[in-house]
Amino acid sequence: MRKLVAGNWKMNGLSASLGELVALKDGLASAAPACDVLICPPATLIAQANWAIKGAFALGGQDCHFEAKGAFTGDLAAEMLADAGASYVIVGHSERRQYHGETSANVARKAQGAWRAGLKAIICIGESLIERQVGSANHICESQLKDSVPDGATPANTVIAYEPVWAIGTGVTPTAADIAAMHAHVRACLVAKLGEGAKAMLILYGGSVNPGNAAEILSLPEVGGALVGGASLKSEDFSKIIAAVQPVA
Ligand code: PEP
Repeated sequence: MRKLVAGNWKMNGLSASLGELVALKDGLASAAPACDVLICPPATLIAQANWAIKGAFALGGQDCHFEAKGAFTGDLAAEMLADAGASYVIVGHSERRQYHGETSANVARKAQGAWRAGLKAIICIGESLIERQVGSANHICESQLKDSVPDGATPANTVIAYEPVWAIGTGVTPTAADIAAMHAHVRACLVAKLGEGAKAMLILYGGSVNPGNAAEILSLPEVGGALVGGASLKSEDFSKIIAAVQPVA
């Protein structure tokens, strides 16, 4: 599996920001990336972005409803994201879990909604600072994986993103050893739940990845790429993170 470097723009970006995506497209045309590239802009920009980038990289949503349609004011179905040009959708981001009360059971249903629409689900998990401090990070991630990843998840329809909540947007990252240890744990949990096929499932690291730390993080065992927030907003920074992925020998 090629690694995946994914940008999550969160609630940032107006039409004027499409210039960053065109700059990213132009940069990728002159230096072919050694990984797959994805940007998840606000849903309002997906269709315009799809037109502007002409398939140079993938687009995704940041959330979806689990139903395909219905009386769910303000929500978006995975089918709508796909129709606008998305091929991925993030589900269970810690900001959705924290500010919208999303449970792992909701997240699992959303992942199934994503599959129904032909989208790849990026299922986010990660412990809070207090959970890490009291030594329960492994247990929390295991239980989030158990309840958020539906049976039927495969490397073709699902990507896992390990994002320690305390590292998101803070400029603080776990040590390389801690990232490697958690990714090994996540892999073991996935194989226990889904079987040997889960050995090929991408596990992204997310939380304050930037051009300065990307090379080290992306070279760690079991790190299949990165989910990048703040540093994905400027094509110059994001391109440097993409360039930090080493080609497979
Ligand atoms: C994120 O929101 O998924 C994220 C990793 O943000 P940041 O890179 O800004 O920490």
